[in-house]
Amino acid sequence: PLWHVCSRPPWLPTTVWLALAIWVCDMVVAVPQGAKLVLATHNKGKLAEFREILAQAIADFDPASVISAADLQVPEPVEDGISFAANATIKANALAQATGLPAVADDSGLCVDVLGGAPGIFSARWCGHHGDDAANLQLLLDQLSDVKDPHRGANFTCAAVLVVPQSADQKGRVVVEEHRMYGRLLHQSIGEGGFGYDPIFVPSQEDEPGGQGRTSAQMSAAEKNAISHRGQALRALAPQLAQLF
Ligand code: IMP
Repeated sequence: PLWHVCSRPPWLPTTVWLALAIWVCDMVVAVPQGAKLVLATHNKGKLAEFREILAQAIADFDPASVISAADLQVPEPVEDGISFAANATIKANALAQATGLPAVADDSGLCVDVLGGAPGIFSARWCGHHGDDAANLQLLLDQLSDVKDPHRGANFTCAAVLVVPQSADQKGRVVVEEHRMYGRLLHQSIGEGGFGYDPIFVPSQEDEPGGQGRTSAQMSAAEKNAISHRGQALRALAPQLAQLF
């Protein structure tokens, strides 16, 4: 809405016009030159992984054309959606509105069959406070202590959302991709890699002939990305993203 501040309509008092102009300028953050897309993360690993996926989908891809929320002064929105897709959309919308750039956000979690899909969107704060991976994992193990192996199925789900703001040369749109990595849960942690619930999750591929029965915490980052919920969801967005470059 920048044209609002460029010229004062004759019916609007100057003081109101000035206050409006300051308010609008405050909402639009400074975007580095050459940036074409913004990813809603402060995690450098996620940004690198995302650039890697785009490099495979786009000829002459310039990594500098993709920035992350960490490069900008944008306040974090309240994630009060009740699904992965809703929360990812809230994050992508907030960034697209603040920057005027197309924005991508993802939201993910662990869905346990016998718990009806919980912890789901509460995965990061299952123990009652946010981001305590060890406490989240221990609580889940305790809750499942009586559950026998055939009933320990689970999946990691990821919704990746692209929000393209309406502009002179682009139609505004929202694209949602939701993907899953299926597997089973162990009774105790194995492996040092990954994060979150990785040490108790064995992807189904690891139980197939030729698999090694490893947890996702025993896989390399590249091996996990090739099959993970997040890798699948972001790769599924790549054709849409390629149109933006
Ligand atoms: P986020 O949306 O990627 O921040 O993930 C939210 C929470 O879900 C994390 O804090 C983890 O507890 C869990 N989670 C999501 N993806 C994974 C994964 O790939 N491995 C292990 N835990 C995950």
